[in-house]
Amino acid sequence: MNYKWKLPTEVISKKQCVINNDKVFASLGKRAIIVTGHYSAKSCGALEDVLTVCNRNGIEVTVFDEIENNPSLETVVKGSEAAKACQAEFVIGIGGGSPLDAAKAIAVLAGNEMGALELFKNQFQTALPIIAIPTTAGTGSEVTPYSVILRTDMQTKVSFGNEKTFPAYALIDSKYICSLNRNSTVNTAVDAFTHVFEGYLCNRATVLSDALAMDAIRVFGECFEALLTDKVTEEIREKLMYVSLMGGIVIAHTGVTIVHGMGYCLTYFKEIPHGRANGLLLKAYLDYIYDVKKEKIDLVMQLLHCRSRVDFTDKLEGMIGKAPLLSEDEVEQYTELTMLQGAHGGTFGGNPVACAAALATIDVLQNGAVENAAAMGEYFKNELEKLAAAFQCIGEVRGLGLMLAIELVKEEKLPDSELTAKLKEKVLEKNVLLLTCGTYKNVIRFIAPATVTKEEIHMALLTVRESLLELQK
Ligand SMILES: [Zn+2]
Repeated sequence: MNYKWKLPTEVISKKQCVINNDKVFASLGKRAIIVTGHYSAKSCGALEDVLTVCNRNGIEVTVFDEIENNPSLETVVKGSEAAKACQAEFVIGIGGGSPLDAAKAIAVLAGNEMGALELFKNQFQTALPIIAIPTTAGTGSEVTPYSVILRTDMQTKVSFGNEKTFPAYALIDSKYICSLNRNSTVNTAVDAFTHVFEGYLCNRATVLSDALAMDAIRVFGECFEALLTDKVTEEIREKLMYVSLMGGIVIAHTGVTIVHGMGYCLTYFKEIPHGRANGLLLKAYLDYIYDVKKEKIDLVMQLLHCRSRVDFTDKLEGMIGKAPLLSEDEVEQYTELTMLQGAHGGTFGGNPVACAAALATIDVLQNGAVENAAAMGEYFKNELEKLAAAFQCIGEVRGLGLMLAIELVKEEKLPDSELTAKLKEKVLEKNVLLLTCGTYKNVIRFIAPATVTKEEIHMALLTVRESLLELQK
């Protein structure tokens, strides 16, 4: 059993845990910046609780309440300037995913002398400590290092985060989510669910992350009917808060999958809320990976009290609606953008294995793992069955990359640390695009009206092989 586990965030989940936690606030300094949106922190009472506890402990606070839905780089820069101006010693993020993610970016930018774009290189060594107070049950951002920021220059959302961006404290009180309306409740609940579900199906899942994911899925199963029938009680909200927290803990260790990667484009171009965007992609994703994750998926369906995955996605559609129709051009565009995002330390790039495909290919070609194009073709033909499986389980790049990387490491052509360094170096190379484009397109195409057949997936794999041969010329 192989697993690694580290959660630097101290989690406190209890009624009134904000207002009764003087010690936590006082331990971090005398000046703080509160990062939040225009309304939610105020209407749910969280802001008032924080102000009371800070006031009581002589902590000077500056409130930066300009965080929009899907926070932009411009806004977090503005927030970091406010943090510097008030010499904040720590950051208090209050809200859903957007303010919590923005709080992380502000904590890094205010704690370092660096340009905003450097955030995405993930090389910063320090950040101001963060207290995260969630007011939705979805993001799990209170226990992850991830921060997802809208990049208008790239027309999508891009994530960053390293060990320094884990909040120091997560203070969780489900009373803050009681005023959420139906849409927000559903969208954020679906987000929380996709986190545990993707983490469970992800290639990086371990026995430990699976244990947490399974329990969270079981508890989500107890909420599913209430969400469907709009009978969300206080008890259900408390459970959703738990699912959300677990989702964060799971993906902090496993990362998310292509569902999140593609969801960002739906949010950017179609203004579909994050959780709903992920939910809309689930059907296609499950169809795509079902053959190789059958056991796990079937088990999840049992825990959700659904007869089958079709029963589940039908119910989900009843709750969040249908996916938008995409034109061929949009499919092309979203593919490119999903790729780019990976190349910038996003969903896929954060994981070195995600880029292993490119590196491995180059190595296979250059370092003589095979002699020539014909041998290369043979090599991949033999591996095609395995490739198909690897591709389908979460795929795509990760599957192929992982397989090839394992091969190389096994043959001691490349030790682990060197692999990681090289992958990062290669990530921006066009080769990655060449190699993976075909596959991404096919996954994305699933949500367009014309669904993709097994034969087409097979064709995509062949395209990848062609690309490999092309590279050698
Ligand atoms: Zn999410």
